[in-house]
Parts: sequence; C-alpha cells; structure tokens
Amino acid sequence: MDKNTQAKIREGLLKKKESLQTMLSSFATKDPNLKGDWDSKYPRVPEGGLEEAAGEVEEYSTSLPIEHNLETQLQDVDNALGKIEQGNYGACESCGMQIEEERLIVSPGARFCVMCSGKQG
Ligand SMILES: [Zn+2]
Repeated sequence: MDKNTQAKIREGLLKKKESLQTMLSSFATKDPNLKGDWDSKYPRVPEGGLEEAAGEVEEYSTSLPIEHNLETQLQDVDNALGKIEQGNYGACESCGMQIEEERLIVSPGARFCVMCSGKQG
C-alpha cells in the first residue's frame, strides 16, 4: 500500500474515531480505569414517579447494545490506528497476509483478509 492511500485511510480513521467518541459520550462515560471501555449512564431516579422510571429503564436497555456496538467500532478504529503507527497496517491478524487494499478502503478497521473473515463467519 502506498503512503498516500495509507494517509487517507488514517485521516478517515481519525475522523471516525472522533465521531464515535462524540456519539459514545452522549450516553456513556469513559471508564478512566479501563482503556477503551465505556459505561452507559445509569438511569437516574426520576422525580416524576414510576411511569417515568419505566421510560428511563427502557431507554437504558435500548442504549446498551448501541453502546456496545460503538465501543467495538471504536476498538477496531484504535486497533487500526495502532497498526499504522507500528507500520504493520493491513496485515491479516490471522494469517499475516496483506489485506486487499479495496477492502481496507471500504472498511479501514478490517482485521482479517477476506478468506479469514469468511472462516470466522
Ligand atoms: Zn487472513
């Protein structure tokens, strides 16, 4: 992969990281003790009574899978950025082969080549 392509991918990753962090921070707090871990804000005890509480809980339970999904995406982005820093970006984490450039452009956080991600389902 040439340097220009990698620089573009890196730029895209940084932007994605920023927007993921913004989204996460809207309903989760970053765990200061655990790198890369975010905790959903617990529903506060409402003043309006039980009906409102039910709404809060529902909101909390629907935000959990979203939080997890964003967290996973953020970890992939961080992971890819780390590999760019180390100079081994684009290598499949399973077989070590170079991941296809088109695949990396479409999903810069890809960790496995097409063959290995097929095996992983
Ligand atoms: Zn592979």
